Amino acid sequence: MKKYNFNAGPSMLPREVIENTAKQILDFNGSGLSLMEISHRAKDFQPVVDEAVALIKDLLQIPDGYSVIFLGGGASLQFCQVPCNFLIKKAAYLNTGTWAKKALKEAKHFGETVEVASSADANYSYIPKGWDCPTDVDYLHITTNNTIYGTEIRKDLDVPVRLIADMSSDIFSRPVDVAKYDCIYGGAQKNLAMAGVTLIILKDECLGKAPRDIPTMLDYRTHVEKGSMFNTPPVVPIYSALETLRWIKKNGGVEAMDKLAKQRADILYSEIDRNKLFRGTVNEEDRSLMNICFVMNPEYAELEKPFFEYATSLGMVGIKGHRSVGGFRASCYNAQTIEGVNALVNAMKEFEKNN
Ligand SMILES: *Cc1c(COP(=O)(O)O)cnc(C)c1O
Repeated sequence: MKKYNFNAGPSMLPREVIENTAKQILDFNGSGLSLMEISHRAKDFQPVVDEAVALIKDLLQIPDGYSVIFLGGGASLQFCQVPCNFLIKKAAYLNTGTWAKKALKEAKHFGETVEVASSADANYSYIPKGWDCPTDVDYLHITTNNTIYGTEIRKDLDVPVRLIADMSSDIFSRPVDVAKYDCIYGGAQKNLAMAGVTLIILKDECLGKAPRDIPTMLDYRTHVEKGSMFNTPPVVPIYSALETLRWIKKNGGVEAMDKLAKQRADILYSEIDRNKLFRGTVNEEDRSLMNICFVMNPEYAELEKPFFEYATSLGMVGIKGHRSVGGFRASCYNAQTIEGVNALVNAMKEFEKNN
C-alpha cells in the first residue's frame, strides 16, 4: 500500500533524495567505496560541503559577512551554543512552545535572560503580540515554527535588536531576510535531511564577542575557520542535505516551496474548518503551514481512535498529535505532496460521511 508520511521529524524527504543518497552509500562517485567509508578529508567530500554551502547561500540569498557551518548535536545543542557564543550580559526570549522554553532554560547558564512574552497560558495556541523587546539585550531568540503546537511566525520580525532564530522546522520553506539575524539554526531532520546534522548560519562580525572562555568544540569560530572540518562531520547526513538542496533549487527555490506550503495548508485547513467532526487547535492567524494540528470537535471526541485507525488503514503515517496537544498533527514539510494532503482530506470527508 502507498504510504503518506506525515511524521513530524525525522520526516518525509523527496524520493530522489533518498535514492541518490542510497546510491552514494553503495558507491561514492564511482570510487568503489561507500560514502560511509571515505575520509571526510577525501578530495571527493570537500566538494559536497562546498556545494551544499553554496546552495544554502544561493537559496536564502545570504548576504556577504555570513558563514554557514554543519555541526552535530541537533538543534538542542544550539540551545546552549547560541548563548555561549552570543550572550554577553542579557538575552531576550520569546516563549512560544516546548522548544522555545528549552532554549530559554539553557541560556540561563550563561547570563541574564528576559522572557519578552509567552503563550504558555493557553497551551501555546497562539503567538504573543504587542510585546516590547527591551533594547538593552544582546539578542532576541525566537522559534519561527512551533513544531509541537502548530503555530508559526512566518515573517522576519521588526525588533530593535538582533534576532537569533531556531528555524528547525520551517527553514527553506520561505524566503528569509537573513540580514536581520545574527544566527539562524536548525536540526536537519524536519525540512532538510536525515537526522544527524545541524545547519548554522552565523554573522561573522558577531563572533568572538562573548566575555567567556569557550571550550574549543563549542566555539563557533573553530568550525567557521575549519569549514565544518575541525572534527569528523556527519558525512552521510550532509550528503543527504546536499541532495535536498539540489532538489529545492531544481524545483524553483524557496519561493516555490513557499507557494506549495500555502497550497497544502490551505487545502487541509479548509477541510478542518468545513468538516463537522474536526476543529483546529490554534489561533487562525498564527497557524503553521508546516505542522497542521487538529482535534475532534468535543461532541465527536469518541471518534478520535476510530479516525486514527481509519486513516492508518488508508496508508497515513505519523498523524497522531504530540501528547501535549492530543488529536492529530499532519506535518507538511517541503517534501509533502499535494497528493498526500488530498489523500488525508479525502479520508476526513469519507469518515464524516460514514459517521
Ligand atoms: C525538533 C526540533 C528541535 C529539536 O531538534 P534536535 O535536532 O532533536 O535537537 C528544536 N527546535 C525545533 C523548532 C524543533 O522542531
